Amino acid sequence: MNTSLRELLGRRAVVLDGAMATVLFARGLEIGGSAEHFMLKQAEVVAEVHREYRSAGADIITTNTFGVSCGRFDDFEVQKICSLAVDLAKSAGEGFIAGSIGPSGGKDADIFALQARMLETAGADLLILETMTDIREARIAFDAVRDASGLPIIVSFAFAENGETYGNATVEDCVSSVADFCPLAIGANCGGDPESMIAAIERIRQVWDGLIIAAPSAGNAEEVGGKLVWKATPRRMAEIALRLVRAGAGIVGSCCGTSPEHTRAIAEAVRKMGE
Ligand SMILES: [Zn+2]
Repeated sequence: MNTSLRELLGRRAVVLDGAMATVLFARGLEIGGSAEHFMLKQAEVVAEVHREYRSAGADIITTNTFGVSCGRFDDFEVQKICSLAVDLAKSAGEGFIAGSIGPSGGKDADIFALQARMLETAGADLLILETMTDIREARIAFDAVRDASGLPIIVSFAFAENGETYGNATVEDCVSSVADFCPLAIGANCGGDPESMIAAIERIRQVWDGLIIAAPSAGNAEEVGGKLVWKATPRRMAEIALRLVRAGAGIVGSCCGTSPEHTRAIAEAVRKMGE
């Protein structure tokens, strides 16, 4: 692990940023549109969102590359997107950069390997396999990423409110599917009601004694007047973040439906807790 990240973790929980696509919806990205395509055309808007997250107190900024693995990008485009995404994350200022890798929806492992290699070359500090729901795919992705890159790897699964992934794997199955790879952290992101993640983190703590990551959504999205709306306020997300830390999470952030305001509330609460 990166020495300064280890030092920070020794003092307090580390803060991960929040959603990218949700914020971009308010700044011109169409619902259902590709955040990566949007970035190629409007890089400055993505850079601005990263800066807002960094100044809100995010220790780790996630690259805007989640959709690369399931998108229809050729190798040249993957390289271009990963390199631009890391540069934009870096432009937000001092701190750690996590290269985001999402599920591929059943493609082969080559896309994970290529993406990992490109994110590392561009200067990411670590990689995060996020919103994984299929344990078989999580293993394939982890294996490919570990072979392709020397960076520490976080694996984060998306659980429904009943504590199973949308691919019907239990919390315990998810942990045991990747624990033998010795990831930097295992945990959960996305999901429905953010409060339901607390029980998932407690269950992970029972079967995994390493670092845990937790980044809940601001609830389930509801469509109101053609716009997606998420209910959880920054204050509620900050309260939940503290409970996630008490349940065992060492890295806390947020996912769909959140903004830099949510991150600011989470970061303030976590820093106060660490004092
Ligand atoms: Zn999400």
